[in-house]
Amino acid sequence: MPVLRAILLGAALLGVVTSAGAESLLPNELGRVMILEYHKIDLPENRWTRTPDNFRRDLQRLWDGGYRLIALNDYLDGKIALPRGTTPVILTFDDSSPGQFRYIERQGDWVIDPDCAVGILEEFARTHPGFGHAATFYVLPGADPPNRLFNQPALAAKKLAYLASHGYEIGNHTLWHANLSRYPESVVRNQIATAQEWIQRSVPGYRLRTLALPMGAYPREVGWAVSGSANGATYRNDAILMVAGGAAPSPYAKSFDAQHLPRIQAVEHEIAGWLAYFEHHRDERYVSDGDPATITVPAGSAGKVRVLPGTRIADQR
Ligand SMILES: [Zn+2]
Repeated sequence: MPVLRAILLGAALLGVVTSAGAESLLPNELGRVMILEYHKIDLPENRWTRTPDNFRRDLQRLWDGGYRLIALNDYLDGKIALPRGTTPVILTFDDSSPGQFRYIERQGDWVIDPDCAVGILEEFARTHPGFGHAATFYVLPGADPPNRLFNQPALAAKKLAYLASHGYEIGNHTLWHANLSRYPESVVRNQIATAQEWIQRSVPGYRLRTLALPMGAYPREVGWAVSGSANGATYRNDAILMVAGGAAPSPYAKSFDAQHLPRIQAVEHEIAGWLAYFEHHRDERYVSDGDPATITVPAGSAGKVRVLPGTRIADQR
């Protein structure tokens, strides 16, 4: 049973120096979490494109800064199992463009392109044990090429099945990137339900738990996006992700709002800016205590904790 442990942080929040010389951070599980939002992984770098090398560099900077990948759904569920002193970070990829997940042929076999996002992530995870390789892919099953399920039609089903079975998540981004603010309820529900249905053709029974809003546009009523049914298919989104808004609240914070989860666009100035921000505002950064059963928060902030169902809170001050 998770318990709440209020510990005295005070000036010690600024960190302690370990014997290895690296600075470690004291736990603060009410701190904020970055949900990074990538679009294309391709050449050249531009507003919606991160190059493969820059993506590698992002992972390296995160690793060096003490960040570790967690799955979005685990964040939503408050199941963050990381070593003490490390910070969770979540990767999301929108629009299923080719550079996110590409197979290439080698000696008659299909292998994952080492320069696509999945290939880069897995290589980095192999060489940096403990970093993880979780990511959520907000795919478009009914978009025009090149955004229809990573643009290798014959391999689309194989890719979705791979993602679902290798520690990644597939999220809903509507059927073909519909701006949900422009449509009546029936179209909104149809876009969400049909996207799920098409993905489930490749991954039977797969439950999409989150929706990333195309262009960040909410439908007239948020409830249309949260749950419902259309064409005989039922959907439920446990969280709705925006396209901007900065670092997200801790899942244990009362300020956590699953229907309005902010993200950070993964472009150079945003990533560099937020890494620097958390370097200078360490008390705002989520830092794990190494014990998934305990929620460690700064002294005096127990009132800011959101009590998750089944959670027992014991303030040890
Ligand atoms: Zn999009």
